[in-house]
Amino acid sequence: MKLLEGKVIAAQMREDMAKDLGKLTEAGVKPGLRVILIGNDPAAASYVRMVEKRSNKDGLDASIIYLDESITEAELLVEIKKLNEDKAVHGILVQMPLPNHINKDKIIESLSPEKDVDGFHEINAGKLYVGLDALYPCTPYGVIHMLEYSGLDIEGKHAVVIGRSNVVGKPVAMLLLERNATVTICHSRTKDLATFTKNADILVAAAGRPHMVTADMVKEGAIVIDVGIHEVDGKITGDVDFESVKDVAGYLSPVPGGVGTTTIATLSWNTIKAALDTIG
Ligand code: NAD
Repeated sequence: MKLLEGKVIAAQMREDMAKDLGKLTEAGVKPGLRVILIGNDPAAASYVRMVEKRSNKDGLDASIIYLDESITEAELLVEIKKLNEDKAVHGILVQMPLPNHINKDKIIESLSPEKDVDGFHEINAGKLYVGLDALYPCTPYGVIHMLEYSGLDIEGKHAVVIGRSNVVGKPVAMLLLERNATVTICHSRTKDLATFTKNADILVAAAGRPHMVTADMVKEGAIVIDVGIHEVDGKITGDVDFESVKDVAGYLSPVPGGVGTTTIATLSWNTIKAALDTIG
């Protein structure tokens, strides 16, 4: 089994990003990323700080906007409007989840689609659906980067995606379909999941269930991408039972150190793309 290591993929992505950064520097543009964090959840705060640090290392001008838990929806919309209008800002990420009194969909729709580096705005989701160039969600696009930078063919493969969320399952299925995979989407109501997963050349596990993909569900030599992130007994782990699946899979992404890493690199990628789009 070959390990699909996020840091190896991210390093390759950074070589390509450096070329685009060069073009931007020539045009006098530094890609600007603003991450909005509402409230003081320690896990969310530590995640966005890590994103900020990594994005700055990637050559972006990244910073976090800390907002109080008590901010109203109207006040948040004003903050977003300012960022939408700020020419130094190319990407805006609103860290989820939002407090209950704020309507998530309204906030996503208030982002300028050109700055929606999370790719959740309906304009970007719609462009993905019809096969147009757009800002694609970072985790699904990070899965694609993992496959492509590892030199793994997608075309003609049977890809099985476990999960149909708007954040991971649906967009990763669309991106795989766009690359000519034959795609099966499984979800919580799928009957006899293993009959599908056992036929997968590429298996993407994004169900949010720790260790649910076991060796008996995987075809010999398959590419298995683990999107899940869980803390179990103080350890970070994924949706794939790594210990058993590693003896069956041909390629396997670890958790931690797999898709989480390519997701963050893809955020820089998307911000650079958003900046490039402004210089034509
Ligand atoms: P979600 O809860 O919104 O969706 C889970 C999906 O899995 C649903 O569509 C559901 O139908 C399906 N599902 C649940 N149980 C199932 C089962 N037993 N069999 C088949 N399908 C089942 O979760 P999400 O936001 O899509 O995230 C999925 C996982 O990916 C989570 O563990 C999350 O933490 C992780 N995640 C990781 C990253 C990253 O950067 N690596 C980013 C986003 C999400």
